[in-house]
Amino acid sequence: MILRDILRTKGSSVHSIHPSATLAEVVNRLVEHNCGSLVVCENEQMVGIITERDILRACAFNGGTLAEKLVRDSMTTNVTIGSPDDSIGDTMGLMTDRRIRHLPILEEGKLAGLISIGDVVKSQHDNLEVENHLLKNYIQS
Ligand code: AMP
Repeated sequence: MILRDILRTKGSSVHSIHPSATLAEVVNRLVEHNCGSLVVCENEQMVGIITERDILRACAFNGGTLAEKLVRDSMTTNVTIGSPDDSIGDTMGLMTDRRIRHLPILEEGKLAGLISIGDVVKSQHDNLEVENHLLKNYIQS
């Protein structure tokens, strides 16, 4: 199984935000889209990623409200990306090693989707269910 298989069912839409937006706007978007991260884009280029964890960190620092803090000051700019042809096993390893739960997927330099750790777990769970079903049938036949 590769990431392209997940994207085929999940789709390629990626929620994004501009670096000059405020963290209060990020919170509203995360709630609106029921997701945990936004890709930060400027001039149609990905320049960073901002997640729930970054919002928590900003809350922990005293001084200023979320409405006064900007995405550009809280985002991660060194974005780890994946390719649609990456295996799900390798992706689980990458996300675990780097302690990230969100992976923008790029194909030919363009955003082709976003895979979350939840998508990876769901895919593994579905595969195990099928394998379990086949093994049970094999044993009973
Ligand atoms: P997460 O566990 O995905 O909520 O993110 C934990 C931290 O890693 C946050 O500071 C994020 O900005 C950062 N982060 C999340 N995804 C990525 C990624 N694909 N590349 C680089 N940093 C990331």
